[in-house]
Parts: sequence; C-alpha cells; structure tokens
Amino acid sequence: MSKAYRRDGDVLPVLEDFSLDVPDLEFLVLLGPSGCGKSTLLRIVDGIENADSGEIILDGKDVSGTTGDGRGMVFQSFELLPWRTTLDNVAFGLEVNGVGKAERLETARSCIDLVGLSSFENAYPHQLSGGMQQRVGIARALAINPSILLMDEPYGALDVQTRDLLQDELLSIWERERKTVIFVTHSIEEAIYLADRIVVMSPRPGSIQMIRDVPFDRPRREDIKTSPEFLELRSEIWKTLKEGLKV
Ligand code: ADP
Ligand code: MG
Repeated sequence: MSKAYRRDGDVLPVLEDFSLDVPDLEFLVLLGPSGCGKSTLLRIVDGIENADSGEIILDGKDVSGTTGDGRGMVFQSFELLPWRTTLDNVAFGLEVNGVGKAERLETARSCIDLVGLSSFENAYPHQLSGGMQQRVGIARALAINPSILLMDEPYGALDVQTRDLLQDELLSIWERERKTVIFVTHSIEEAIYLADRIVVMSPRPGSIQMIRDVPFDRPRREDIKTSPEFLELRSEIWKTLKEGLKV
C-alpha cells in the first residue's frame, strides 16, 4: 500500500510499499519515528483516509475506504464529546449505527464495566482524569464490537504510572475479549511489554524496517522489563530506529 499527500503541486510521500498481514487475535505494535506515517496508516486501516494504491482486507473482505465494519479506533487525545456523559459517549457509535436505546445502553454499560468505570457512568469528561478518559475511549471503541482495535499512541498523553496501569488493563481486556489489536507507540518498552510482534517503521515515507516476535509468556509480568532478553531486544530496536534516522 502507498500513500502521498499533495498540496500546491508538492507531493509528500508518507507510506511506501507498506504490506503487512496481521493474523486474527494478534497484538501487533507499530513503532516508528515521529512523522513516519503511523497515524496515516491507522486512518487508512480505519477507512477515514484512502490509500493511493493497495487495499485493506479484513476477514477476507475488501474494506478499503469504508468506515465502521469491524474496526474501532482509540486516539491519543481521547476525542470524547465534552457535553456527553460516559454512558452517552460510549453509546455514541451504537446510536450512529441505529441501535435501539435499550440495547445500546445495555451494551455501553457492559463495556464501561469492562474498563472499571461503572460508578462514573454519569460523569462528564472534564470530571474524569486523563486515565479515566482514555478508559472511556477504549470502552467506546469496544462498544461496536470490532474485530480489530486500532490504537494510536493511546497512552502518549498520560503519566508513567497511569500508563503502566492501563497497559495491564488493556492486556487483560484483550485476553478476555479476543480482539486483534494494532497499537502505535513510540515507546520501545511499551511495545515490548504489550506485543506479540513488533513492526519497526523507517522514517517517512514509512515502510517496514524490521519485524520481531516478542518471546515473553502471557500474562506478561512487570519483571520481564529487567530481564536480559528484554534489554537485548530493546537495544536492538533502538539501534534499528537510530540507523533509520541516519540515512
Ligand atoms: P506519525 O503518526 O508517524 O507521526 P503521520 O501519519 O501523522 O505520522 O504523518 C506523516 C506525515 O504526513 C507527516 O509529515 C505529516 O505532516 C503529513 N501529514 C499527515 N496528515 C496530513 C494531511 N492531512 N495533509 C498533509 N500532510 C499530512
Ligand atoms: Mg501519529
């Protein structure tokens, strides 16, 4: 797949020959320098943006350029509607899809429960911490029961402790709900802690620079972060990223 942005006769190539197969239920993490096209790639997979060439195949079906349909997106900046409560934010996608009120509230409540926010159902976004707002963002994405969850640096705006907590929560939700995940981050530690497989992208125009399987058992435990295997993988990825930036 390839993508370029065009403005005033200038062409900015953003993704070049990017091709990737993501098996069902995989937790895939995309790592890459700022501006290499990670968000663009997720938007293309989500269908809110079109590629110039290539297609997005989901469960055997060509979904290029269409939205909804099995994909849920979680954004770094949460993107909640400030005038809606937790419950109404989470139910929003179902409302758009024409799901009846009783059913959408029931689904929304069970997703809110999944992220541990049941007692904040009636709170507005400004009454919630950043970590809680992102839990709402995750519940909202889950509410439409997507087969694939697209997460664009979802914890990038959170403090380190909250980030660690949400990583563990996400892993347990992922294990229970059985979803495929494509998770974008620029934290190497976060990538190794979460992923089954890590894809390292080159600087713009983004293409695949390296793919690594992550060898740790699940459920993941905090202490892998100080193991020699973890540190070795981290330094290998760091070297690859640095080499990419030199060219
Ligand atoms: P990343 O998420 O990896 O930081 P992005 O996908 O956001 O990268 O952006 C890749 C490149 O494309 C950047 O140089 C950015 O400025 C440019 N870009 C992103 N969106 C647009 C757009 N809508 N129009 C023009 N250029 C864009
Ligand atoms: Mg981005």
